[in-house]
Amino acid sequence: MLRLRTQYDLKPLVIHTNYLVNLASTNPLFLKKSVEAFRGEVERALAVCADYLVLHPGSFRGSDREAGLLQTAAAIAASTQSLDLARGGLTILIENTAGAEFSLGGSFEQVAEVIDRLRGVVPIAACIDTCHTHVAGYDIVTEEGIYQTLQLLDATVGLNNVKVIHCNDAKAARGSKLDRHQHIGKGTIGLEPFRILLNDLRLVHAAFIAETPIDQPGDDRKNVDTLKKLVS
Ligand SMILES: [Zn+2]
Repeated sequence: MLRLRTQYDLKPLVIHTNYLVNLASTNPLFLKKSVEAFRGEVERALAVCADYLVLHPGSFRGSDREAGLLQTAAAIAASTQSLDLARGGLTILIENTAGAEFSLGGSFEQVAEVIDRLRGVVPIAACIDTCHTHVAGYDIVTEEGIYQTLQLLDATVGLNNVKVIHCNDAKAARGSKLDRHQHIGKGTIGLEPFRILLNDLRLVHAAFIAETPIDQPGDDRKNVDTLKKLVS
C-alpha cells in the first residue's frame, strides 16, 4: 500500500466518511449502526495507512445542538476504543458544514468544541470547506472578510489544527445554508479568494482538495489546474 502511495504521490491520503454516518443521532438503533460504521471506516483507514479521515459532526434532530455536540464527541471516542490511531498515523478531521436545520458544525465554535472534547482521547483536528463556510454566513469573498474569517478560525479551531481545506466554489448565496458546490471561480465565492487562501503562509501545512462537480469528463482536472495556477 505504501509503495502504491509513493508511486502515485498520494500524500496526504485523505478519506471521507460515508455520509449516512450520524454520530449525533437520537435514535438508539441509528446511533449503534453509525458507531459500527464509523469504526469500520477507522479500521479501513488504518489498514490503508491513511493520514486523515474526514467526518461531518452529524445531525441533532430530536435533541439540541449542545447535546448533539457532546454525543458526537462521545460516539467518536466509543467508535475508536482500543484502536491505536496515533500509532497508525491517522487523525480524524471534523469538517465544518453549511449548518442547515439540525446539522452540527455550521460554526467554527462547534467544530472546535468537538475537537476540544476529544483532545488527549484520539488524534483530532479540522477540515474546513470553503463552500460550507460561505453559505454558513462567513465572509470569504472580500479580502478584509477573508482575513477576519481566518482570524475567527484561528481563535476557535486554531489554524494549525486545520489540516485539510476543501476548495469548492458555491452555487448559493452567502448565509443561505444551501450546500451546493460549484466549479472554482464560477460561483458566488469567485476566483480571488482561493488565491488568497492558497498563498496564506499560515496554511502552508494544509492539504487543499477540490470537491467540485463533474458535469463533464475532465472537470475535476480543470478545477485542480485552476487552483494550481493561483499558487505563486
Ligand atoms: Zn467538504
